[in-house]
Amino acid sequence: YKSLAEIDPEIKNIIDKETWRQYTGLELIASENLTSQATMEANGSILTNKYSEGLPNARYYGGNEYIDELEILCRKRALQAFNLDPAKWGVNVQPYSGSTANFAALTALIQPNDRLMGLGLPDGGHLTHGYYTAKKKMTASSIYFQSLPYAITPETNLIDYTGLANQAKIFKPRLIICGASAYPRDWDYSELKKISTKEGAWLMADIAHTSGLIAAQELNNPFEYCDVVTTTTHKTLRGPRAGLIFFRKDLENAADLEKRVNDAVFPACQGGPHNNTIAAIATALLQVSQPEFKLYAKQVIANARTLADTLVSHGYRLQTGGTDNHLVLWDLRPIGLTGSKVEKVCDFLGITINKNAVSGDASAQVPGGIRLGTSALTSRDMKEEDIKVVAGFLHRAVQLSLLLQKEAGSKLLKDFVRVATTQEEGKQGFAQV
Ligand code: PLP
Repeated sequence: YKSLAEIDPEIKNIIDKETWRQYTGLELIASENLTSQATMEANGSILTNKYSEGLPNARYYGGNEYIDELEILCRKRALQAFNLDPAKWGVNVQPYSGSTANFAALTALIQPNDRLMGLGLPDGGHLTHGYYTAKKKMTASSIYFQSLPYAITPETNLIDYTGLANQAKIFKPRLIICGASAYPRDWDYSELKKISTKEGAWLMADIAHTSGLIAAQELNNPFEYCDVVTTTTHKTLRGPRAGLIFFRKDLENAADLEKRVNDAVFPACQGGPHNNTIAAIATALLQVSQPEFKLYAKQVIANARTLADTLVSHGYRLQTGGTDNHLVLWDLRPIGLTGSKVEKVCDFLGITINKNAVSGDASAQVPGGIRLGTSALTSRDMKEEDIKVVAGFLHRAVQLSLLLQKEAGSKLLKDFVRVATTQEEGKQGFAQV
């Protein structure tokens, strides 16, 4: 046995630097979290050595006695975490990521070239929900299927359910996808179910961002209405990087749906499952089922509300004016800044955020806002009072960006942002300015 430091000091050094960055910086990326030591231990385990194509008790390789036990336990915990009856719901725990889970779900539910509808990317939807641009079909979900985005209403920035119903009446999708990457409000699944039933479409929810909050019963429950639910496991759920696909078992042709989902994951879209990840998902889900996680989820939302309220009290504009979940969309256009500038300035300050399109942006390439999330800071045990301090830092970062733009001239800020690629260079750049 030799340690990583002995075999590969270069990689060890990079991991150490990233550890330092994560421990000392303020992580506000809404799609990230800090998973537990126990989850990381399972993820870095010997289970990475094993091949186990297939499903428990039906593998293409020998030696899977313990792997079968593992996958069965992980499935059980996944259903428990979301309070699901195993007679009514099943789950596939093998997807490598959220994108793979989504493509496998599409493969299971519809045929190549069938029609689907998802929330448009500029309105908060995800790439895998059928995204394409005028120039290019960018993602497998628009290359292999015909897709039409639905939207948020410009006045309220809330999902336009009436518009969706009208579009669906004409477009006749075989699948409607709900769920988002940048939508600060909750979803009306019962309304979506009415629309999908009327048009004879499947209803799928991608709860990647909010699954931890849904498991803690802090948001509306998509399982009451949807046929299939996908999620990543590494966002509010606080597990390793992976995906899950839940499917109904109480439909007329339920056995068929179960087989379609399982076949779509393997062999249609993937090969051997990552058993180390499945163990880590199981460990994370055990934690999700404990009472502390409910308190965590409540705190994530309370912190996001405090973040929103504090930014509003500083006079800033937020999309929809606030939040119901873990994320806040901050529209920087009224103060004349772009998301990418503020992202870069925050990077130099050890605050990690991401630029994001806001409603009405002329171009998705130059997003006018930033997206903030409270999942990771809440995992560091931050409460409302801490978040007010963080909001104060963000206020100062934005004011600094404005100052750089105004006082030093926008060209200087542009040059500074372009030239300074490391935190150290950033600090020096600040000092010069
Ligand atoms: N679905 C949604 C709603 C997401 O926000 C994301 C990622 O951010 C994904 C799917 C894709 O997940 P992954 O990055 O694990 O492929």
